[in-house]
Amino acid sequence: MEAAARPPSEAVVVVLNCGSSSVKYTFFESGSGREILRGMEDRVTDYDAALQKVLEKTSALPGGGLSSICAVGHRVVHGGRKFRWAHRIDNEVLSGIRHYCDLAPLHNPYNLLGIEFWASRLPGVLQVAVFDTSWHSSIPPRAHNYAIPLKMAMEYRIRRYGFHGISHHYVHDRAIEFLGYHGREDLNIITCHLGAGCSIAAARGGRCLDTSMGFTPLEGLVMGTRCGDLDPAVIPFLMSPEGGNLTIEQVKDLLNKESGLMGLSDLSPDVRDLLKAREERHEGAWLALSVFTYRLKKYIGAYHAALGGADILVFTAGIGENSPEIRAETLDGLEKLGFILNVGVNAETRGTENLISSRESKVKILVLPTDEDRMIFKETVRLVKSSARRVEEGRV
Ligand code: ADP
Repeated sequence: MEAAARPPSEAVVVVLNCGSSSVKYTFFESGSGREILRGMEDRVTDYDAALQKVLEKTSALPGGGLSSICAVGHRVVHGGRKFRWAHRIDNEVLSGIRHYCDLAPLHNPYNLLGIEFWASRLPGVLQVAVFDTSWHSSIPPRAHNYAIPLKMAMEYRIRRYGFHGISHHYVHDRAIEFLGYHGREDLNIITCHLGAGCSIAAARGGRCLDTSMGFTPLEGLVMGTRCGDLDPAVIPFLMSPEGGNLTIEQVKDLLNKESGLMGLSDLSPDVRDLLKAREERHEGAWLALSVFTYRLKKYIGAYHAALGGADILVFTAGIGENSPEIRAETLDGLEKLGFILNVGVNAETRGTENLISSRESKVKILVLPTDEDRMIFKETVRLVKSSARRVEEGRV
C-alpha cells in the first residue's frame, strides 16, 4: 500500500475497461478527481500490443509516467456471488475472477488479461477490481431465484446476477446528489440503462432489490441485437425439426446477435436509424420501437410495484440520454402511476443532466449521463484510502 502514502494531488488513478475487442481507459487525478485523459484502443486483434499502447500514454502524465500512478481500477464484468464490493486484487481475487470465466466467457478472460498486464508492469501498485455484478448482490432471494429445482440452481450457480451494475450504481448515487437528497434513506429509485445492451434496476434505501438482466446479460429488456425476455420453450422448439433444427451455437447467435431491435426491424439495431425509418413508414422500425418501449414500460410498472412506489426514475446510456422520443413513448400512459414528463424539457434534453418531470409528477424523472469510469475511479480511491487490512475484513 505504498501508493496510498503518495500525496493525492500528484497521484494518478488509471481506470481500465478491457472488452473482447476494445480497451477503454481514463486517467484521473486522484486528489481532485479531474479527468486527465480518456481514450480507447478499438478493434483490437493483438491484445498485448493494445495494452502496451495504453501504457505508453502514461508517459505524458504530469510527474513523469508510471511513477505517478498510485492505483489501477479494473472493470470486471462477473463477480458471481463472491464479490459484493470492489476488491483490492490479490491471488484470491484473481482466482475468483478466473472461477467466473465460464459464466462470462466474453468478458472475464479479457478483464484478467488487463489485470495481469498492469500488475506485471507496476508491481507493488494497488490494483482494484470493480465488478458489474456487485451492485446487484443485495437482490433478495425472492428476486434472484429462478423457479427451477433449487439443488440444480445451486450446483450450476444458476441465479439472477444482474449486469451494468457500475452504471446503475453511478446514476443512482448521482440522482441523489443532483436532487440534493443527501441523507435520505427512504428513497426508491428506478434506473434504466438503455445502450446497446439495456437493463433496468430498482433500489430502496441505497440497496438494489431487483434488476432485469439475470444469469446472463440476455434476459429482460429488448436490446440492440438481444431478445431479452422470451418463453424458454422457444429454445427447445428452435432446436427441434419443427422449429428449424438449430444447434446450440445457432440458437445462442440468434438470440444474442440477430434478435432485439435488429431482428424485429430487419433493418438496424440502432434507435437513431429506427426513428428515422419510422418517419418514413418502415413497418419493421415501427414494430421494433413499439416492442422496445412496451417492454420497458412494463418493467417500470413492475418495479414501481415491487418498490411500493418510486421516488425517482433515471434514464441513462446512449438511448436513455439521447432519445426524448423513446422516453416519452415509454412513459406515455403512466401518468396515473405518478410519472409525468415536462414535455418541452424532455424534448430538449439530450446528453446532459436534467430533471425532465413536470412539477406535478410524483416521481422525479431524470436524465443522467452515465460514467462508469468515474464510478470505478471512486471505488478505487476508496480502497486506496482504506488500509489493506480493513479492506479484507468481512468483505470477501
Ligand atoms: P454501449 O452499450 O455500446 O456503451 P451506448 O450507451 O453508447 O452503448 O448506446 C448505444 C446506442 O444508443 C446506439 O445503438 C443507439 O441505439 C443509441 N443512441 C445513441 N445516440 C442516440 C440518439 N441521438 N438518439 C437515439 N438513440 C441513440
